[in-house]
Amino acid sequence: MMAKNSRGKRPCSICRKWFAPDVRQKGRQRTCSPACQKELHRRQCENWNRKNKAVSKNNYLAKKLEEAENPQTSGKLPVLPLEVIEIEYGVKPAIIAQYLVTQVISHTKEKIREFP
Ligand SMILES: [Zn+2]
Repeated sequence: MMAKNSRGKRPCSICRKWFAPDVRQKGRQRTCSPACQKELHRRQCENWNRKNKAVSKNNYLAKKLEEAENPQTSGKLPVLPLEVIEIEYGVKPAIIAQYLVTQVISHTKEKIREFP
């Protein structure tokens, strides 16, 4: 909650120190100094990366692709969600994806033969 009597002052998003934002950057400034601004940007990038990773972890297709890449850890052959690819990206990418997965499977089978 922002105090009404602080006359435009706000707490820094990074160090929590109260500061008066530059009037030229009305409503945009969230940090008290360039150093804190840099840190804010770094944290935002970090958050974005973490969020992105979480999204791809929850993504059905990404999971299937991961399994196709690491069948030895999943312990079963990958099932390619061709219907999903077709709906999302069209028939041609689905064919390409099927081809690539077939390549991965045959490559993996060779690997398994090498390590009985
Ligand atoms: Zn600060």
